[in-house]
Amino acid sequence: MKKLISSILILLSVSLFVVGAGYAQEGEPDWPTYSVQPGDTLYSISQRFGMTLDELVQANGVADPNSISVGFSLALPGVEWVSGALTNTTMPLGETLRSITRRYQTEANLIARLSGFVSPTQLAAGYPIMVPDGGIQYWELGRMAVDSGTSLLEMAVLSDNNPWAIKSINRLSGTWDSIPGDILFLPGTNDPGPGAFPSPISQLSFDGNSLVQGKTAVFRVALNGMPIDLSGNLLGQELHFFEDDTGEYIALQGIHVMMTPGQYPLSISGESTNGAKFNFNQMVLLTTGGYNFEEISVDEYLLDPELSASETAFINEIVSKVTPEKYWQGKFVPPSPYAGLYNSYFGTRRSFNGSAFTYYHGGLDYQGGTGVQIYAPAAGRVVFAGPLTIRGNATLIDHGLGVFSGYWHQSEIHVNVGDRVEQGQVIGLVGNTGRSSGAHLHWEILVGKIQVEPLDWLEFEYP
Ligand SMILES: [Zn+2]
Repeated sequence: MKKLISSILILLSVSLFVVGAGYAQEGEPDWPTYSVQPGDTLYSISQRFGMTLDELVQANGVADPNSISVGFSLALPGVEWVSGALTNTTMPLGETLRSITRRYQTEANLIARLSGFVSPTQLAAGYPIMVPDGGIQYWELGRMAVDSGTSLLEMAVLSDNNPWAIKSINRLSGTWDSIPGDILFLPGTNDPGPGAFPSPISQLSFDGNSLVQGKTAVFRVALNGMPIDLSGNLLGQELHFFEDDTGEYIALQGIHVMMTPGQYPLSISGESTNGAKFNFNQMVLLTTGGYNFEEISVDEYLLDPELSASETAFINEIVSKVTPEKYWQGKFVPPSPYAGLYNSYFGTRRSFNGSAFTYYHGGLDYQGGTGVQIYAPAAGRVVFAGPLTIRGNATLIDHGLGVFSGYWHQSEIHVNVGDRVEQGQVIGLVGNTGRSSGAHLHWEILVGKIQVEPLDWLEFEYP
């Protein structure tokens, strides 16, 4: 993603660097303002609001288009259909177009025009939207979803509110103008949720607020008291929820690196201990990871699709068994003394022997030749250790909660199935066995059966 953004910046030759302060020229009309966001260029902003780059530059007295930074407040000359300060955000989980218009005290067609969508069905969670800056923070003012069979008047009484105050703050045309499932602000309540969530859920979020090819998605669910049996499904993969130390429920799921960007359904369902069932569904946005391409030559027999499929199925079977215990603590450490030195990155689209780029690199290749030590990057339990045709001498470590790590092409394996390993422990030696064109360590991480960017596990601490 970062690579993609920077390449766009370079393409347009209008990158935004130095911090400065925007100003409106005296005597000018009161134009709306837009706060520059990461990834923006003056050109892209001018296009978005239907003006020329020159007009935008002139109106803001920008001497050097390269001197605008993130957070710079730009006046938008000639834009008369909206006023005030505007900002970008993404559609959160559990919001609807109606709830968003209330939250930002604006109109649906204005958000649509600012954000460039024509139908609310485009508004998947994670979809980039432009909204008036500020808005009502739902943690400042409680919200509640309208149950079928409960009138607004009844909700007002239950929450000790004046129905006309509720009507006003929710921009309703009358107390009759609320529909089941609608999410209303209720002054005086300090319940942070539930947004569009069913009442047992107080918060549902996922890190980054959108799904990215090859990344580890982390879903967090907070409950209103009562414990619950949660399950979920995303992109055809079952989500496994585990309760953490804080009482939050967490599910980790890898997003396949070749998954076509677009909208995909997320569903979460559950049953509370008193037997109440609920089901939550929302479309979520999946965006590109911006991966590169490479061409590789190998022995032809190693490209046999049947061979490849049966070995993948074998690995898949092993990583399907989810251990409900978390073995790892904190960040992972590099599995190689050649930390930071890579032959090939995760996610790279690959052509073997001149084929189409239908293959991809499912791991991270470390430099360092035959005999270099391989370390366990985190605590876990060995679930496979032995020779495979494509992967060569291979080891798989279960780190718990559906997280596994794999080490391929080894010259020697120093662990056995069932062994508990500690972070930093030597588990084998680098080699050139299997489908490999030169000795190296191929390291991969699988989350919910899907290979993910291993560098993220070195950089971030996963719950
Ligand atoms: Zn590799």
